[in-house]
Amino acid sequence: MSLRDLPSVERLLQRAEGGQLLGCYGRPLTLAAIRHALDEARFSLRQGAAVPEDDALLLNARRTLEQWLAPTLVTVINATGVILHTNLGRAPLSRAARQAMLDAAGFSSLEYDLTRGTRGKRDVHAEGLLTRLTGAEAALVVNNNAAAVLLALTALARGKQVLISRSQLVEIGGGFRIPEVMKQSGARLVEVGTTNRTHLEDFESALTDRVALIMRAHHSNFRIVGFTAEPSLAELVDLGRRHGLPVIDDLGSGALLDTSRFGLGHEPTVQESLQAGAALVCFSGDKLLGGPQAGILLGQRALVDRLRRHPLARAVRPDKLCLAALSATLTHYLKDEAEREIPVWQMIAARPEALHQRAQAWAAALGRGEVIPGLSTVGGGSLPEETLPTFLWTLPHRSPNALARTLRQTSPPIIARVEGDRLALDPRTVLPEQDADLLRLLAACLPSA
Ligand SMILES: *Cc1c(COP(=O)(O)O)cnc(C)c1O
Repeated sequence: MSLRDLPSVERLLQRAEGGQLLGCYGRPLTLAAIRHALDEARFSLRQGAAVPEDDALLLNARRTLEQWLAPTLVTVINATGVILHTNLGRAPLSRAARQAMLDAAGFSSLEYDLTRGTRGKRDVHAEGLLTRLTGAEAALVVNNNAAAVLLALTALARGKQVLISRSQLVEIGGGFRIPEVMKQSGARLVEVGTTNRTHLEDFESALTDRVALIMRAHHSNFRIVGFTAEPSLAELVDLGRRHGLPVIDDLGSGALLDTSRFGLGHEPTVQESLQAGAALVCFSGDKLLGGPQAGILLGQRALVDRLRRHPLARAVRPDKLCLAALSATLTHYLKDEAEREIPVWQMIAARPEALHQRAQAWAAALGRGEVIPGLSTVGGGSLPEETLPTFLWTLPHRSPNALARTLRQTSPPIIARVEGDRLALDPRTVLPEQDADLLRLLAACLPSA
C-alpha cells in the first residue's frame, strides 16, 4: 500500500457522488473538501491504515462540506422562562414586524421621495411614528442603545464634562460600561455623590462652566437597597434649566407600557422621562419595546438635529431591515394592540392559568413529566429580582444537565433550564407556533419511560 494508490481529485470528481457535491457546493469548495479528505487519508496511510474506497473519501468530503457550511445563527426554542434573553437574541419580533423585514429586503423607498422622485431621508421612516407615540419633538434611530449614548455624548459633550451619580456607573451585559463609553466619546466623566446616596447638592456643587450635560442612567440590571437616595429626574431637569444644561436620560429598556399592570415592579417609561423634562431620552429597540436591535433617541429638536448632523451618526445608522421591523413594532403601540401582537408583551401578560394549561398539555402529549409552579423573569437588563409566577413542565432525571445538553443539539435546539434534579421547561417563553416542534423533539430525546 502506498500513497500512490490514493485516487486523484479528478477521478473522485468524476464519480456520481463527486458530481453531486459539485452541483451542491460549487467547484472551489468541493475541491478544497476533497483535498482535505485526501490529506486525512494520507495521514492515516502513514499510520498503517488501508487505502480507503473512493466512496469513503467522498463521504468524508461531504461531511466536511456540511460542517464548513453549517449555519451558526439558527432558530432556537427558548424554554428558559427568561423573556428578553440577550444570548437568545432578546425580543422575538411580531408577525407584522417579520413580514415588514421581508418586504423591505428587496428594493425599497429607504432614501427615496416617491412624490418628488428625488433623494429622500431614511430618518423619516420611524421618526413620525415615534413622535406621534410619545409626543417628543424629534426622534433619531441608530444601531443600538450603546451607539445612542455614544453619539449623544460625542455630539453634545466632547471635550467637556458630564455629571453623573456614582450610583449609576453601570455595566450592562456584554461589557457596555457607562464610564468607558464616556471615555470613548471624549467627554469627561464627573462622578458625583456616593455609591448609595447622591443628593441634588452634589450635582449643584460640581457645576462649572466646563459642564455640558447632566446624565442619568437607569440601573437596569441591579438594585440598590437600604440607605439610598438619588435626585429625581425632575429635580435634575430643574437644576439643569437654572444653569442652561440639558439632561440626558439613558433608560436602557425604555418601556412604553407600564409593567406594574402585570404584577411586576414599575420599569420607568419613556413617557415619564419626557414628561419630567429630559432633553434627550434614549433606549433599546429590542428590550421591552419588543422590536429589532436599535437605539432610539427622543427629545428636543435642536439637540436631536445636532446628533443627526454629527459624522458619527452615519457610522451608527440603522439599516432598512431594522427600520422596517421597528416601524411595524411601533405601529402596534399606536394601534393600541401591543399586548396582543408583540411577543414580549404577550409573554409578560400570559396568565398563570393559561401557562398551567399549556404545561399540562405538554405532559399529556408526552405522557411524561410533572407540572410544578415556578418563576419566569423579564431579563434584558430590566426589572432585576422581579419574577412572574408560571408553571413548569419538569422531568426528574439523574443527570438533568446531560439531558439539557442533548436538547441543545436538536434541530431546532431547545434551550431548557435545570432546577435541582429536574429538567424544566417554561411555556411562557416558547412561541406557540413552536409547540409541535418542541413536543416532537422532546419525545425523541427523552429516555423511555
Ligand atoms: C441595555 C442598556 C444599554 C445598551 O443597550 P444596547 O441596545 O444593548 O446597546 C445602555 N444603557 C442601559 C442603561 C441599558 O440598560
